[in-house]
Amino acid sequence: GQTIGIIGGGQLGRMMALAAKEAGFRVAVLDPAMDSPCGQVADIRIVAAYDDQQALAELAEASDVITYEFENIDYEGLKKVMDYAYVPQGAELIRITQDRRIEKMELEKAGVPVAPFVIIESVEDLEEQVGKIGYPSILKTARGGYDGKGQVKLTSPEDLSEAAELIRNTPCVLEKVIPFTKEISTIIHRNAAGECHILPIAENIHVNHILHQSIVPARVTHTIEKKAEQAAKQIAEHLSLVGTLAVEMFVIEDDLIINELAPRPHNSGHYSIEACNVSQFHQHIRAVCGWPLRKPILWESSIMVNLLGQHVAPAANQLTKHPEWSLHLYGKKEAKHDRKMGHITVMTDDLERTLFELEETGIWS
Ligand code: ATP
Ligand code: MG
Ligand code: MG
Repeated sequence: GQTIGIIGGGQLGRMMALAAKEAGFRVAVLDPAMDSPCGQVADIRIVAAYDDQQALAELAEASDVITYEFENIDYEGLKKVMDYAYVPQGAELIRITQDRRIEKMELEKAGVPVAPFVIIESVEDLEEQVGKIGYPSILKTARGGYDGKGQVKLTSPEDLSEAAELIRNTPCVLEKVIPFTKEISTIIHRNAAGECHILPIAENIHVNHILHQSIVPARVTHTIEKKAEQAAKQIAEHLSLVGTLAVEMFVIEDDLIINELAPRPHNSGHYSIEACNVSQFHQHIRAVCGWPLRKPILWESSIMVNLLGQHVAPAANQLTKHPEWSLHLYGKKEAKHDRKMGHITVMTDDLERTLFELEETGIWS
């Protein structure tokens, strides 16, 4: 059989690997951790840094197709791998999405709306440019941020000194705070033949900048749904996407603003494992392997709730009471506070009632 090589061994890699194995592939994974979530289910484990050239060569040697589970892999390293291995998603997608400056410029080129922003590369830039964006605004590091890490919110000039600290270390983007009514995400898959499908749109609730809940289908108007699908398609075509792209969006009344991209399966798409005829992971494997894609169908409305370290034990205690919960654990040993340990998906014919019942458990409060 063929082997799929995955760069990155976290939970996304693990769920990709499980889907790949169902489709009959063998899986090789590169991750620096001895006992990574993906390493536990892979056939071949290479324990080394993501930019270790020899390890990448070893992964390429073992694999027929190479994919990645996150965007912060080494761009130059990936380009070298492409000289001797098949990486259908390419390195360009990584170059663009691992740097907010480039990502925002590409979004503008794709013709979709983004929040007003300026690139800030020095403290002088900040002093000069903050007036263009005004308050409230958010300063975000250009590279490496996730779960709101590497961000400073500016509500008045008093916050400039904290912002200056962030810029001293790394280039940033300053963007206007959007008074959104909702956050949604659109996950789009595309294969090399240009076949393209979008999963049902998720409505995302964040707590402390970490995704807490995804509600599907998103409770938005038909207009927003169509605009979101159109924007995702436009971006995918502009990037000549192969694989998976998650597009995070802000809804303001009947308009959309694109927040950011992730060139991989996304936390807000986990519901598709149970609630759709094709999961985001299966579709990803199909897309990178050049298989025809499936047209997604949502079997039932669903809610995905993340289990962070502090939620695992209380959730386990309530499992007998909730046979309707699909529980996923990622095989991480230490249940550290705020660490993503797993998630629960609940399919329901009554979203509001199920949201209320989840709240009532007290697990997430
Ligand atoms: P992720 O874990 O999704 O990669 P991240 O650290 O890359 O997160 P963003 O998605 O850019 O950060 O921002 C995190 C959250 O902060 C958003 O989901 C949104 O709730 C809020 N936020 C970010 N930018 C803005 C904005 N311009 N206006 C209003 N809220 C914003
Ligand atoms: Mg991000
Ligand atoms: Mg985000």
